[in-house]
Amino acid sequence: MKTNSILLISTILLSSCAQSNKSEMDVFVDNLMSKMTLEEKIGQLNLPVAQGTIITGETRKEEDTVAKLIKSGMAGGIFNMKGVENIRETQRIAVEESRLGIPLLFGMDVIHGYETIFPLPLGLACTWDVEAIETSARIASIESTADGLNWTFSPMVDICRDPRWGRMAEGAGEDPFLGAAISRAMIRGYQGNNLADSTTIMACVKHFALYGGAEAGRDYNTVDMSRQNMYNYYLEPYKAAAEEGAGSYMSSFNVVDGIPASGNRWLLTDLLRNQWKFDGFVVSDYGAIMEMTAHGLGDLQQVSNLALKAGMDMDMMGDGFIGTLKKSYEEGKVTENEIDQACRRILEAKYKLGLFADPYLYCDSERAKTQVYNPEHRAVARDIAAKSFVLLKNENNLLPLKKQGTIALVGPLADTRTNIYGVWAGTADATKYKSLRKAMVGYLGNDAKVLYSKGCNFCYDENMEANHAGWLSIRDERSDAQLHAEALAIARKADVIIYAGNELANTSGEASSRADLTLPDTQLDLLKELKNLGKPIVMLNFTGRSTIMTWENENIPAILNVWFGGSEAGDAICDVIFGDKCPSGKLVTSIPKCMGQIPVYYNHLPTGRPQETWFTKFRSAYQDIDNEPLYPFGYGLSYTTFEYSDVALDAATMHAGGSIRATVKVTNTGTRDADEIVQMYINDPVASISRPVKELKGFKRIFLKAGETKTVEFEITEDLLMFYNSNLELVSEPGEFIVMVGPNSKDVKKKTFVLEF
Ligand code: BGC
Repeated sequence: MKTNSILLISTILLSSCAQSNKSEMDVFVDNLMSKMTLEEKIGQLNLPVAQGTIITGETRKEEDTVAKLIKSGMAGGIFNMKGVENIRETQRIAVEESRLGIPLLFGMDVIHGYETIFPLPLGLACTWDVEAIETSARIASIESTADGLNWTFSPMVDICRDPRWGRMAEGAGEDPFLGAAISRAMIRGYQGNNLADSTTIMACVKHFALYGGAEAGRDYNTVDMSRQNMYNYYLEPYKAAAEEGAGSYMSSFNVVDGIPASGNRWLLTDLLRNQWKFDGFVVSDYGAIMEMTAHGLGDLQQVSNLALKAGMDMDMMGDGFIGTLKKSYEEGKVTENEIDQACRRILEAKYKLGLFADPYLYCDSERAKTQVYNPEHRAVARDIAAKSFVLLKNENNLLPLKKQGTIALVGPLADTRTNIYGVWAGTADATKYKSLRKAMVGYLGNDAKVLYSKGCNFCYDENMEANHAGWLSIRDERSDAQLHAEALAIARKADVIIYAGNELANTSGEASSRADLTLPDTQLDLLKELKNLGKPIVMLNFTGRSTIMTWENENIPAILNVWFGGSEAGDAICDVIFGDKCPSGKLVTSIPKCMGQIPVYYNHLPTGRPQETWFTKFRSAYQDIDNEPLYPFGYGLSYTTFEYSDVALDAATMHAGGSIRATVKVTNTGTRDADEIVQMYINDPVASISRPVKELKGFKRIFLKAGETKTVEFEITEDLLMFYNSNLELVSEPGEFIVMVGPNSKDVKKKTFVLEF
């Protein structure tokens, strides 16, 4: 192997480090940068996509351009390249064939698992199981680093209150408290103990910021939000990630206060670095620097300057930094210091990852053979998937089903391997996964007979299906009428019908906004026909967002939201519907009754004219529907039942800096052992600004045997009562607070206490 300058630098360094009080990393980076040309420094700020693999935007480069860029030191990293041998070879080119031998970052959208796929993040969040979520990120990190990656574009922590936005699927829902806990867990799972070993991966928190606030739920659309709303709600999960030591952030496509995030100095420098003390690097989203021209911020050179000066360090697929920064430097529009600062941050990330010590640290082909999609990882994924399902309705305890008789398994999601694990899993290998049908037949063996019919397409209109499903379309050659007839024929022979339908994987995710969130036409028609047979129906709702199921709620006896459950979804669904496991997931988004209610979210502010029970004139209400969602935030049923005692507080007054304990006794009053997610909300009824009607401030997932009672305790500290006031100062204010505990955000028991200074 060629001895490159990097190794030489490392040896010179140790002595110079001892002579100054700079860290070893600083001395190393100083020395390396002293050898770099301006072009090479700018080269580190460039992030092209690997050709021929997975792309999410328009690729404008020729096949061999990436290799040329690497050899000339014009790429700081590569993204979306799969396979340890490919990555090793690409790293070799960087280390052996570029002048300074600087190793590359290898990034990828490892969003909910690598080859062992976990539930879609929205589903994962419905477990409310922070440890399990951390484990899922840990496993994703082990698998992806075994396969050569060192950087993941995850977690996605954008709060979303509007299910029209398809990217609701990628986040943790509508709540900042839960979102922040999940954000922290993901960072811990990915980065372990400060990226200390080669099974950890650098996280990239996205999309900074407020991307989930897109107007009308239309992807990439304008966001217009008050600082109050930002600081008290939307920013919380991004901030938590900085506190947890996230290595990188990705800027979002949208504007923040009128300036696109990628060129927003307030966001990228004042808030992220100065207020939150983030010391990693920021990468743009795909082409987001370049797209600032379309936002009306100037030509490529102008927007690239704007981005650099705002605090952007790396340009993903925009060509703005490598294309224009040198010219801007020569024209005196950017300084070498500004370029150096960004370059330094990229080199520091590589240093923290250990790439200078060993560029092939993440390229151990032996690990890839045993650590990717292994039985242990799959078992964990199956268990987590079962925990993510939310039972929305279960009339007369139709579920769990008995493992006997004849089952009609119907629906477009019933026999697909490519659509069952969910969107944003570019590294998934569907050939290894089971469809629900395959899983069910294997699960039941000779105990019961499974009759299958696809029943219908995604929707009647072929073009519309192509819009929704893209390359994951599984359109049948037969007409929907033929498919319906086949489904009805097998359903007539069955004791129970299981309908597996609603969205296909690509129907949610990026660029998948929808203006109608009811069940697609042919599917709803089929369900109505099936219902007319008068047989019991279980609906498995596959979705990456809140779907509107008002008709289904009135007409279908059992509804289980299974989201997209990952690679083991088929087996996990069987575990739950046949009763080997109890459903325990709870919603992390409110599910509206109709489109016109959107946005509907539980932690809204009170109005001066609240709705009473139904419509009355001059109240904040609709004439044709009430304000309540169909299913509230935090909601989810079990196969058992739980009873909550009144809330008890150990004191009626909290003093500044003190704390109070709230306790509640929860009893499993049914006949099955099961988990319950106990939720605590707080309301501050009188404050200097209007405060939400309630806010989640604690939750616990507990296990209760049938008949067992447990006392669940929440410590309420003063910081849980704090909020950003109208001067954006984080304060708590004296006065009364209402503590609410219950199984969801609606059915709560209350107790009040007073905060005294
Ligand atoms: C998405 C990001 C993703 C990036 C790279 C973009 O289109 O918005 O979430 O990380 O592509 O694939």
